[in-house]
Amino acid sequence: MDAAFVQEMEENLITLQEEILKMFISENEDFKKLVSGMDIKDLGDIAADDVMCRKLEALNQHETNRLRRVESALARLKNGRYGICLSCGKKIPQDRLRAIPYAVLCIECKAGDESNRKKRA
Ligand SMILES: [Zn+2]
Repeated sequence: MDAAFVQEMEENLITLQEEILKMFISENEDFKKLVSGMDIKDLGDIAADDVMCRKLEALNQHETNRLRRVESALARLKNGRYGICLSCGKKIPQDRLRAIPYAVLCIECKAGDESNRKKRA
């Protein structure tokens, strides 16, 4: 994967992470108190913190899941596994990653996953 794209995705992911955290701060007084005085850049570590994550989950599970996905996408960027489908191991198209920077499945696997889920439901 080319360095410029990795750079672009890293910036996208960090922006997304900040947006989610800011949303938590604006919606929750307790969380605001918890992080007061912290730099938004340090807030990224919060998602990696289990206790903090559980607190966030109680507030908004959907957004916490998103935050975790962003977090793990950043980890994959660092270890060079970013953009590789977790299911089939093929490269995820850059267009898809631009649309969903924390995508872990290629379109085919995602489609398969969703139809499997529907069958089970
Ligand atoms: Zn796949």
